[in-house]
Amino acid sequence: QPAQYAPAIVVGSGYGAAVAALRLGQAGVRTVVLEMGRLWDAPGADGKVFPATTAPDQRSMWFRNRTEAPLATFLWLDVVNRDITPYPGVLDRVHHGDMSVYVGRGVGGGSLVNGGMAPTPRRSYFSEVLPAVDADEMYGTYFPRARRMLGVNDIDPGWFESTQWYRFARVSRKHAHNAGLRTVFVPNVYDFDYMRREAAGQVPRSALAGEVIYGNNHGKKSLDKTYLAAALGTGNVTIETMQRVVGVRPDPAGGYVVTAQTGDLTGRVTAVRELGCRQLFLGAGSLGTTEILLRARETGALPGLGEQVGRGWGTNGNVMTARANHLWDTVGACQATMPALGIDDWDNAGNPVFAEIAPLPMGLEHWISMYLAITRNPERGHFTYDAATDSARLHWRREQSAPSVQAAKALFDRVNRANVTIYRYDLFGENKPFADTFTYHPLGGCVLGEATDAYGRVKGCPGLYAVDGSLVPGSLGVNPFVTITALAERAMDRILATDPR
Ligand code: FAD
Repeated sequence: QPAQYAPAIVVGSGYGAAVAALRLGQAGVRTVVLEMGRLWDAPGADGKVFPATTAPDQRSMWFRNRTEAPLATFLWLDVVNRDITPYPGVLDRVHHGDMSVYVGRGVGGGSLVNGGMAPTPRRSYFSEVLPAVDADEMYGTYFPRARRMLGVNDIDPGWFESTQWYRFARVSRKHAHNAGLRTVFVPNVYDFDYMRREAAGQVPRSALAGEVIYGNNHGKKSLDKTYLAAALGTGNVTIETMQRVVGVRPDPAGGYVVTAQTGDLTGRVTAVRELGCRQLFLGAGSLGTTEILLRARETGALPGLGEQVGRGWGTNGNVMTARANHLWDTVGACQATMPALGIDDWDNAGNPVFAEIAPLPMGLEHWISMYLAITRNPERGHFTYDAATDSARLHWRREQSAPSVQAAKALFDRVNRANVTIYRYDLFGENKPFADTFTYHPLGGCVLGEATDAYGRVKGCPGLYAVDGSLVPGSLGVNPFVTITALAERAMDRILATDPR
């Protein structure tokens, strides 16, 4: 029998995990959250919790000697990345051959490092991707609940039109409109009122100080300020940090036993613990949850797990690109880091693309328009378990990214033609105008309705649940965290109402 026991354990503390923790706590279930990263609440030597994006230090990345920012170079020069000391920093880039995956590490998971964009998917596409989920219920109850809980808000259009901080977005909008494309405002979880006060010089700057992928010191409603704060407030939830869950096995007495490694700030494992629970909620993200399940299946710890575990993984069709504008179309030395506008061409049946107009705050004037395109890439990857390294390996070949690049190229060729502009070749390495070897939106690996039932109950393992991005089958058409949150809300409603505790 394990020395420690809790009625419920939640693995990870990203979106799905945070919803599970809050709803369990409110239902009176004593719950332990195990998170492999740090709690980001104490200031460093510079007086800030997170480092500036332009001056990254050990806090920026997860056990690296050098930062690995999405933009590799500028003018082909290696001026973006910095040498750092290995430390449990907030952003990780997990390499899997031809595809690497950016993820957040720490209490709050991806909410600590993401761009805060909070769109709700097109209802028609959502129903196509997840036909087993009642769309009336999602759009009537769970999406509105997720948006409210996450603190989703809209930019004031009047301020957007007048502020220097969104000139970059207005320039990109003009170029999109010249090509006959539609743009839309995109809601965000960064508090736009706070941002206006930043611009007025009334409060410390964060989005207006270049902060985003290595954490925001102010303004952003990350999960530690929303769901996780509320979960702790129930008095039934505790969060344990630097706890990496590596094993799960059934407890002969019922429920599950989890094996967790305690890490220290140098990356050493200082202890290995076992914790028992009645119900186990996996919220370690697409990569984390899939690895835990795959390892358990392949080592025989959970032989009941089916063949669908490790399948149906996709990049949400992510591809990044950048255009070079004419000299008169400067984008501004001052740029807010939170995107507020997207090019919405998803209804173009021949080439659906939703492209976020991304900032590139360099603190100096320039002519680059950046985009993160979300495309409808039908390719799917899968994971296998590598016993030698005791880890999951993603199988994704370079050519599987080609449909994403083709779709983004078709859209931005249009924009370039209409504006007589060209792509930038100096930013992503290898002289490429399209960054097709990383994703911000890992989705799938434990797909809803395939590896689980329609509510995330893992098939063959009663009392074991997946609650995160691993449930989404590889594509959503928009940035994913609102959907991950809403799906977790829906699952927790059902699980708490019906499943034995
Ligand atoms: P995650 O948020 O990934 O959380 C998983 C947590 O589990 C992490 O804290 C991790 O450390 C922990 N963990 C993993 N393995 C283990 C283990 N074995 N044991 C214990 N803990 C573990 N999405 C949007 O919707 N809008 C955006 O603007 C946006 N921008 C992004 C920008 C960047 C740079 C990145 C990286 C992502 C962005 N995303 C965005 C994606 C979004 O953040 C993710 O889709 C979301 O965080 C996934 O939620 P999740 O619940 O699946 O898990």
